[in-house]
Amino acid sequence: MPSGSSRSLGQRIVAVLAAMLASGIAASGFAQPASQARRVQSPWRLGVFPVTVFSGYTSSFGGRTGPWGALEPHYGLDIAAPLGSPIRNWWGGTVKEVIDDGRCGVGLVIQSGPYEHIYCHLLGSSADGVYRCAELQLKPGQRVRTGQLIARVGMSGRTTGPHLHWGMRYGGQWLDPVVILRAMASSRRAVASSRRP
Ligand SMILES: [Zn+2]
Repeated sequence: MPSGSSRSLGQRIVAVLAAMLASGIAASGFAQPASQARRVQSPWRLGVFPVTVFSGYTSSFGGRTGPWGALEPHYGLDIAAPLGSPIRNWWGGTVKEVIDDGRCGVGLVIQSGPYEHIYCHLLGSSADGVYRCAELQLKPGQRVRTGQLIARVGMSGRTTGPHLHWGMRYGGQWLDPVVILRAMASSRRAVASSRRP
């Protein structure tokens, strides 16, 4: 068996992402040209952690035992947070879809270059493809800034407690959002250390 095929999809995606960060490719706004190698990591620090009142990680990306006992894939990261607490947009982009189904519940898909970030189990409602929650109203095609309040933590869809299910796709492939969070953290550390005298 070739050594490559024994690696999980997640490991392969991590390797691809690491190579991307190292070479500075990726879509506009996400990385610098290779000629600015020293600054390659810095764009990631601009990303915003989506949950403002963090109460812990409750389920990680990958396989997990579902509520019905069967092993099922989990394409995202579950972040516990109080009901109604704010959710901020990870990266500036465009609302691609307002979800309303039995699994994700009320949710949002936001497109930023080749990345799609997905927010599930939101508070509020979806009617006619528009997300509404008190003063908030988002519809497909709408521009959203980095860090903008886009939703509130709810319990819609299949969930046993208030949390944000945060998913991430790159070029249509699921990514572990933790990889993105690590890139953001190491980019912040790199910037902080470069500012030291
Ligand atoms: Zn989840």
